[in-house]
Amino acid sequence: MTNDGANLYDLPQPRLARALGTIVSPPFRVKQIEEWMYVHGVDSFDAMTNIPKELRAALAEHYRLDFPQVIERTTPAADGSQKYLFTLRDGNRIEAVYMPMGDRTSICLSSQAGCAVGCTFCVTGFFGAGRNLTPGEMLGQFFTIQHEHNVPMEMMNVVFMGMGEPLLNFENLVATLDVLYRNIAPKRITVSTSGIIPGIDELAKLPRRPNLAVSINAPDRRRREEIMPITKKYPLEELIASLKRYPSEKGREITIEYVLLAGYNDSHLDAVALAKLIHGLRAKVNAIPFNEDPNLPPWMKRPKEGSIDRFVDTLVRNGVAVTVRRSKGREIAAACGQLRGKEVARRRPKTG
Ligand code: SF4
Repeated sequence: MTNDGANLYDLPQPRLARALGTIVSPPFRVKQIEEWMYVHGVDSFDAMTNIPKELRAALAEHYRLDFPQVIERTTPAADGSQKYLFTLRDGNRIEAVYMPMGDRTSICLSSQAGCAVGCTFCVTGFFGAGRNLTPGEMLGQFFTIQHEHNVPMEMMNVVFMGMGEPLLNFENLVATLDVLYRNIAPKRITVSTSGIIPGIDELAKLPRRPNLAVSINAPDRRRREEIMPITKKYPLEELIASLKRYPSEKGREITIEYVLLAGYNDSHLDAVALAKLIHGLRAKVNAIPFNEDPNLPPWMKRPKEGSIDRFVDTLVRNGVAVTVRRSKGREIAAACGQLRGKEVARRRPKTG
């Protein structure tokens, strides 16, 4: 049965218990329902086999258990990575990515159905703002992909690096994290931000914090303002200061993401300047060679392999730990928004 009641996955845990308490008794049934949702990630009341039939029917009369619907999956890349396009109840489209990595698997989730931050190298930014995703829409991406690939929870990593700026959807992000923590340790979850300083400061106050990744992309304020206009609001120097006060935990570093654009931010001197900028931070750099897209400015090109190597070598010689996201499949996460971009282009009426 379908109805227009609330999606139970959208209620933060304390509200869920209160909402269920009006229909469900005895109280241990609430715990059982939470377990079906938060541990097993079911999307129907009928799947809750240890809950009496009448109670399942009563729940279905008042509430929904909704996940976004998959409308497209890319063919798996050579390394097994696969991108998913979902449709939401209101017709918005979002993406998520499945990335197997040996004995671990990462799922990259979207936090908004678009993005107002407007980074010029990003397809999601190109298509503009979209609404915040609810906890149910974020958890739905996760559970759908986890179920489809049957990945044991102990192998899972989660990254909020898909469409949207997660720290501009803070409340729903925290509600989503609280559910994910039931299965996955905070150190296995990463939140990636374009540098929303108040959000970073709020994240710092949480009793359980995910890993933090920050998209830097230029070693100086002028160029960062050009490709990341959010720098005007949250200047680079203040952003670095906020990272310096972010509580550091044993064995955990901040990830500095750096999209490499040929001839723009990939020189030897840029690497030296980046090393200087992040000096004193407990951080590692993740260099991401740019993924070209017809919706993005044509001057933006992927650097040649030699330039990437030189940039990385310079960072290493300057004492910076660095990884490069080279494989084709992994790039699809860096280029989140591209599958939706293609789909939007297909749906657009042809003119002329
Ligand atoms: S890179 Fe992230 S923050 Fe920037 S426009 Fe794209 S989705 Fe938004």
